[in-house]
Amino acid sequence: MEKTLSIIKPDAVERNLVGQILSIFEKNSLKIYSIKKIKLSKKMAEDFYFVHKNRPFFNDLCTYMSSSPVVVSVLEGDNAVAKNREIMGATNPKDAAKGTIRNLYGISLDKNSVHGSDSKENAKIEIDFFFKE
Ligand code: ADP
Ligand code: MG
Repeated sequence: MEKTLSIIKPDAVERNLVGQILSIFEKNSLKIYSIKKIKLSKKMAEDFYFVHKNRPFFNDLCTYMSSSPVVVSVLEGDNAVAKNREIMGATNPKDAAKGTIRNLYGISLDKNSVHGSDSKENAKIEIDFFFKE
């Protein structure tokens, strides 16, 4: 079964939206295979978002992601990677389709409530990043 990595970002954890977001995954046939709440260090955030290291928003993104705890999970289901991206909605909550997580809960481009792997290849790398034994 396909797996993907999800992160419920600080803005959503702070607003007690963890249960509501997990419930959206479950309603869409994604199973919560593994889950944990952690506070990322700045270094962990920088390593996780390494692909964005040359983008102008990289430092702000890593500062934000390490500002307070996040909930990291592995979601499992048919087409889990694409399905999670669909359920999340567009990166900017202003552009996110109605009923998507970012439409319902996102505050801004940076505080957009969730992260989701963007390909099967990256899902494997991201799952290993947080859950490798
Ligand atoms: P996604 O999370 O939809 O895969 P990206 O991988 O492009 O989006 O970007 C990673 C994260 O960086 C986004 O979720 C968002 O929080 C932040 N981000 C992206 N673009 C910008 C931007 N132009 N300004 C500020 N933050 C941004
Ligand atoms: Mg991305």
